[in-house]
Amino acid sequence: MGSRRTARGAMSLLGAFALSLGLASGAGLVEPAPAAADSCYTWGQTLSRGDSGSDVRELQVRVAGWAASGDPVNIDGVYGPETANAVERFQRGYGLSVDGVAGPETYGQIYALQDGDCTPAHFAFSEFTSGDGSGFSGGNTSASNVRTNVLRNMWKLEAMRHKLGDSPLYVSSGFRSVAHNDAVGGVPDSKHTYGTGVDLTGAHSLCDLARAARSSGFNGIIGPGASGHNDHTHLATRSGRYWNAPDCF
Ligand SMILES: [Zn+2]
Repeated sequence: MGSRRTARGAMSLLGAFALSLGLASGAGLVEPAPAAADSCYTWGQTLSRGDSGSDVRELQVRVAGWAASGDPVNIDGVYGPETANAVERFQRGYGLSVDGVAGPETYGQIYALQDGDCTPAHFAFSEFTSGDGSGFSGGNTSASNVRTNVLRNMWKLEAMRHKLGDSPLYVSSGFRSVAHNDAVGGVPDSKHTYGTGVDLTGAHSLCDLARAARSSGFNGIIGPGASGHNDHTHLATRSGRYWNAPDCF
């Protein structure tokens, strides 16, 4: 991903940023965590409403799981009200100062959650690869696009996991190659073949998963009561809303 290529340049920016903030606000400032986050992405400036650009986009990916119910955050690089509200919910969710502005404390929390490969702490790419051993290849879009889509879902799931009391969510099916999707009886052109669909089971009831997904940025939810969905809850990032879990809501 492009974010990795920019990480080194961003490190020097970070130093200047932390220094200038330190001079301005004195002791007690929580500075962004170093090193571990830098191999993925480091923000060099505070971001707030009205800002735009690739650093906003990177932020949006990380807070997309803190959307309003039924109103996903667009990953569009524009820091509008939805992004500010998501940042507020993220801050509240992790016990930070709540102001809807992404600064050192917010970045520090993201760095604490973020692994060197940009995945959130509790999810790994290996959980999402196609069940036939084809990795992220053989789908209805490029492996690179699949990886991007999977990463976006992972951050939404990280938020869901935290809201559900930090207990594990299990991915029973992530990306599927077209061949694997056919083999397991998936619908043609399934979201799984793009990496935008994910099936969950877990310690929680399937309805608890479906309910939590509504305010975690998932526009696609198919769960208990829907045909073929009584043993998992299917979540998807999609353009229009499709929620079908009649036994739950
Ligand atoms: Zn599914």
